[in-house]
Amino acid sequence: MEGELKAFVESLERNMTPEDVITLEACMDCKLCGHACAWYLATGDEKLHPTYKTKLIRDVYHSYMTLEGRVATALGLRKAPTLEDVRERMQSFWQCTACGRCTLTCPLGLSTRRVVRLGRAAYTDAGLSRANPTIKSIIENTENLRHSFGLTIPQVIGRVGLFLQNEGIEVPVEVHGADLLFVCPAAGNTKIPDYGIKMVKILNAAGVSYTVSPRVVDTGTEIDHIAVHHKLSRVMLEEWEAEADRLGVKQILLVECGCDVRTLYAEASEALGRPLKYPVVSVDALMLELIKDGRLPVEPLNTRITLHDPCYATRLSGLGEIFREILSYVTTDFVEMTPNREYNYCCNGGAGGMRLPENTELRRKISVLKANQIKLTGAELVTTPCVVCSLSLEDTCNVYGLAQPGERMVQVLFEVVYDAMEQALARRGELDRMYMPAELIGRDPDFFDAHSIGGRMAMLAHLPDFDKLVDWLEQDPIVKRFAATHPSVMDQLRGLRELAECPNC
Ligand code: SF4
Ligand code: SF4
Repeated sequence: MEGELKAFVESLERNMTPEDVITLEACMDCKLCGHACAWYLATGDEKLHPTYKTKLIRDVYHSYMTLEGRVATALGLRKAPTLEDVRERMQSFWQCTACGRCTLTCPLGLSTRRVVRLGRAAYTDAGLSRANPTIKSIIENTENLRHSFGLTIPQVIGRVGLFLQNEGIEVPVEVHGADLLFVCPAAGNTKIPDYGIKMVKILNAAGVSYTVSPRVVDTGTEIDHIAVHHKLSRVMLEEWEAEADRLGVKQILLVECGCDVRTLYAEASEALGRPLKYPVVSVDALMLELIKDGRLPVEPLNTRITLHDPCYATRLSGLGEIFREILSYVTTDFVEMTPNREYNYCCNGGAGGMRLPENTELRRKISVLKANQIKLTGAELVTTPCVVCSLSLEDTCNVYGLAQPGERMVQVLFEVVYDAMEQALARRGELDRMYMPAELIGRDPDFFDAHSIGGRMAMLAHLPDFDKLVDWLEQDPIVKRFAATHPSVMDQLRGLRELAECPNC
């Protein structure tokens, strides 16, 4: 057997559980799973049917991993898949969001998403997935920078710091002994760091004891779900735990990212070979608790809002009712999509759906199902507790003309909570609660300088390539987007440029 095929088979052998063996043995090839998969439903393309993916893994399993199969192959009675067959089907494993909807219509409840994850891991372990430039970059960025989009720590801190300082918001950095460690996945701090400020304001206003890390700036979502690189995923999780140890926190706070929720609540033990050391709390569960106990005042909005259930957070992790309960406090006009909860259609953005540019045309085609769901609600605003779902839905609303040009019709759930909170705080004259986190209130100046975002920004100015960081900030499209509503950020950037060019500074 050729080296790459051998590595492919060995990966399957290593990662396959008894449940997966049952899945591969029990499948009757009845094709009912296709009745639930948006990729197949919207196209009718057999190559997008769930079984197109599972058939390859079943054939590899039967040919190389069972005694009868090996004997039959050796006697020429069975044609085993070749390396070329494996290569040829690779793309189909990334034409799937591993959303798990197909399990709902399988009479045996078999999990195609698990088979897809096994397949992705095997392609990655065999080195074959690096033939895809996006997957290659996710792996190499994570290996080299521990950030799947390839941002450096100064870039993450510099950009977020710029936005926070522009609004006069503080965030606690590297505060030992805080209750919660808050790490944002790369997609969040790359694609929506300007919107993410609202999350910081919520935590500050509610007096939550939390800290952010100056070392761990990506949770590993993409390496776990897109590349399914178990070894790197383990490294990311261990580094995250080690940072929690170093900072002496009690819990890990999960932001609104369906993949993170799924990883931390369910799949971390696959990569680690043991349960995660720390208890985790999703920010949605936390916000609900804060609203209910009165620490987070909210005043409901009169906007007609519908909810997109993220597959990973609702169908696969069971958080759907938490989202609805939050919405019952923050809007007077909530309307359900049909179907909803675990039957909801996928946004088609997660697990590489949107990250791989070659999927764009197809993703938009199958998103007609989602667009029709949204249209039928008559909602003014779509919300979802997942950053990636929100980006994919925003694209869908634009492509299908549901949103007015330039309008943001989709918001992450914490943004809706923020609006309801801001309304309540404004009425009480308590807007200043949003600006200072509990962990920095009443601290002495030295502590404040060492643990505030202002202090960290000052440290960046001493980096030898600070001028390059300023170049990058000046060109950054997210900074430009922020500047459209916060023009004063350009003055801040000019100040940083002068600092970078000052020979005596
Ligand atoms: S996991 Fe989702 S996208 Fe993948 S085959 Fe099943 S229904 Fe389709
Ligand atoms: S519905 Fe279940 S048994 Fe039927 S083909 Fe799909 S996975 Fe196999």
